[in-house]
Amino acid sequence: MQTANTGEGCFYMVMRRVLVFLLAAAILISISGCAAKGDTIEPAGAQLNTVPVDTNPGGPKLLLAENGKSKYVIVRGKDAGRSEVFAANELAKYINLSTGAELAVVTDDLPETEREIIVGKTKRAQDSFVDRASLGTDGFMIKAADEKLIIAGGEIRGTLYGVYDFLEDFLGCRFFTATLETVPQINSLTVNTTTEVTEKPLINFRDTLWKSTFTADIRGKYRLNGELMPGFNGSEPLNTNFDTMQLFCGTIFQYVGQDYFDTHPEYFAMNEKGERTTDQACFSSEGLYNTMLELVRKRFSENPELTCFYITPNDNPNYCQCPQCAALDEQEGSHSASTLNFVNRIAGALKDEFPGKTINMLAYMYTRTPPKTINPADNVVIQIAAEDSYYMKPYKDSSPRLVSDLEGWSAKNSNLLVWDYTTNHGHFNILYPNVRVAVDNVKWFYENGATGIFLQGNGYDTGGEFGELRAFIAAKIL
Ligand SMILES: [Zn+2]
Repeated sequence: MQTANTGEGCFYMVMRRVLVFLLAAAILISISGCAAKGDTIEPAGAQLNTVPVDTNPGGPKLLLAENGKSKYVIVRGKDAGRSEVFAANELAKYINLSTGAELAVVTDDLPETEREIIVGKTKRAQDSFVDRASLGTDGFMIKAADEKLIIAGGEIRGTLYGVYDFLEDFLGCRFFTATLETVPQINSLTVNTTTEVTEKPLINFRDTLWKSTFTADIRGKYRLNGELMPGFNGSEPLNTNFDTMQLFCGTIFQYVGQDYFDTHPEYFAMNEKGERTTDQACFSSEGLYNTMLELVRKRFSENPELTCFYITPNDNPNYCQCPQCAALDEQEGSHSASTLNFVNRIAGALKDEFPGKTINMLAYMYTRTPPKTINPADNVVIQIAAEDSYYMKPYKDSSPRLVSDLEGWSAKNSNLLVWDYTTNHGHFNILYPNVRVAVDNVKWFYENGATGIFLQGNGYDTGGEFGELRAFIAAKIL
């Protein structure tokens, strides 16, 4: 595990990861590749350019473009947000690249015309087809109605995702990486008049930390919505990020740092010799509790867009062995007890003051096993990490300790996120053969109640073992 913004590796996890096997992925190598930055490569074969099969051959269709011309315009809301403005422009851009037709993007204050592709929220009557309440921020619908085609959904990301889905499924575009995509050349672009597609992600929070995903436009195309990297703080033009939800590992001393050691040694963990050390926090410390409470309160007050705050131990195994922590952990059968107790107290104190916001805690290393009787508060989120697991077979069949820990948290009706790994953090070029089981694992996490999944990759450079390919696969399975 590593912190998102400091880039410190997880020594302890790395030490345990020594399995090395060959990954037979030659067929996939061919799509990573040799395209220069900004290339849009020509169709190279059916594998790369799968123009969708007509599901209703001979049936009535909307003719969106033919022979490089179109009778359609793209309509967006006059007051649309930047995401939907961008979505409409992206649709025009790729239809042009594919068919040669130039569709004007107009706003909904202009008089309605017969043939329109309506993108996002507008004042057109067809907007009533779009059930935004059920689609949420990331869902969308694609629907034909009379001579109109509607692509619309959540205004933050859903409409944009709908446009990319349309480009992939109806035109056959493929967005492999930020610099490698394919756009089929289509002479006659049609859509069945019966078209009605509704999609909403099952996983609300989706991210990877692969460096090849660190540009705003590919994050839109990949439907990744976490905010992991500096700069993705809502000021990016696409707003494709997840409401400033940040992932942090080892947060406690980002806030209560070692400067406190001289004045408040009781904030710090006791080792086996009975000495306070700067390695870790003492989560039984009343002073630490009061300090953190005020700090979280201040942070939520000053940053109303924040949806959560992570309180997690530092990234090392040196849990506090003071009599209070030790007694609670012993009684509860896990060192997660003292941490969760602390997090629950903070969450409880802030619940009414900041409704809808959560305090998040990692279930990782010595906090991964749930305590026997303490349950997470309603406004606490548990993010379980899949370290120390066997990654060549589905976790559910191969990693009994992870199964037991995940099912334990799930049985407590925890709000669950997952932190999983898709690269060898000891050496990014060493093979990490989990590709074949990644889908099984994601399904299993979801079945156990996970509403967000982070598949951590190499955030240092775009290389590593099939780095760009892995980022693409991770995005596709989330
Ligand atoms: Zn302690």
